[in-house]
Amino acid sequence: MNYNNVDFDTYFKNYPDKSGFFGKYGGSFIPPELQNAMNEITDAYYSISKSGKFISELRRIRKEFQGRPTPISHLERLSSKCGNVQLYVKREDLNHTGAHKLNHCMGEALLAKYMGKKKIIAETGAGQHGVALATAAAYFGLECDIYMGAVDIKKQAPNVARMKILGANVVEVTDGLQTLKEAVDAAFMAYSNEYKDAIYCIGSVVGPHPFPMMVRDFQSIVGIEAREQFLEMTDELPDAVVACVGGGSNAMGIFSGFLNDPVDIYGVEPLGRGETLGDHAASLSYGSEGIMHGFNSIMLKDENGEPAPVYSVASGLDYPSSGPEHAFLHDLGRVKYDTVNDDETIDAFYTLSRLEGIIPAIESSHAVAYAMKLAKQMDKGSILINLSGRGDKDMDYIIEKYGIR
Ligand SMILES: *Cc1c(COP(=O)(O)O)cnc(C)c1O
Repeated sequence: MNYNNVDFDTYFKNYPDKSGFFGKYGGSFIPPELQNAMNEITDAYYSISKSGKFISELRRIRKEFQGRPTPISHLERLSSKCGNVQLYVKREDLNHTGAHKLNHCMGEALLAKYMGKKKIIAETGAGQHGVALATAAAYFGLECDIYMGAVDIKKQAPNVARMKILGANVVEVTDGLQTLKEAVDAAFMAYSNEYKDAIYCIGSVVGPHPFPMMVRDFQSIVGIEAREQFLEMTDELPDAVVACVGGGSNAMGIFSGFLNDPVDIYGVEPLGRGETLGDHAASLSYGSEGIMHGFNSIMLKDENGEPAPVYSVASGLDYPSSGPEHAFLHDLGRVKYDTVNDDETIDAFYTLSRLEGIIPAIESSHAVAYAMKLAKQMDKGSILINLSGRGDKDMDYIIEKYGIR
């Protein structure tokens, strides 16, 4: 399949290129001392992750520890409410720890082990990446330093407790606004001092090369499984695949399985409270080209060209950019990016819970909401939704803010 001169038969061979570019997006825009460390990770990734030993160990971990393959469920009751279209979900909520993030954290931590590193370093905002990484560190017996803003530590007490129970060291960052941005800076600083013994683990398909590629590759298991399972269940491919996009890792995971198929692909961004800058985090829908956090992509900017403040009801989606591969697929037109707002998302959260007995993460509820709208516009066919995680983490917030509907 071909889109604007990009041949999807050979796509994964050519994208990203050797310097980490997907067209003009991606790359690595970081200080020279960090670049050496990144080069080490890139070299290790290319050599180690392709070895039979690494692949078979990761395969065993996925099966015996993570509980993969996760199933696909047919949403019969929800489908009957949305016209003639059949809706299905890929159940990443059933992956160990309750979301897709562990897929790349186990891969990154296994790479750390093969590289002989003793420690993994990361930042976390809402704490989901920190918990997944702390889980991986415990499994492999690695030290784990998670940098987190003091404000976020207060807001995300249950995840802070989880990380500590798993043995991670949660480092409080008290600079500036004491949230994710300062945590990223502090974690990068620590990494540039400790890179001989440590590796940095990014939580999505963002950051400098090789992370957008590496995280996509580790998440691609979702798309590989989903394609095979869907064919087995229905004898056909889905007509559409839908996933929510924050940084974009769960979306790249499932999309990668269908890029070369005659399947419509939709990435769903959070429109939050509305279209005004500051009220949403729909970077691909409203942003423009720019460099932040070490990579070139499409981002939301303030009047000074700096990353704009963003908002979403889903803390896992409130990021002012998205991975460079999404920016590339956006410009090519291979993936269509669209939005749903907070209200549509919360409706979908309750609807899926009530009709199907699956409580979705608020992030994943964005994809469910969009699929419900899309189903009503199609007169027949099927839609496969990536259910990136379960909603247990969101219970307190939902009850406090929306009550029981
Ligand atoms: C973190 C998170 C997301 C957003 O991250 P992506 O990299 O865009 O996938 C989505 N869903 C869940 C459940 C998450 O925890």
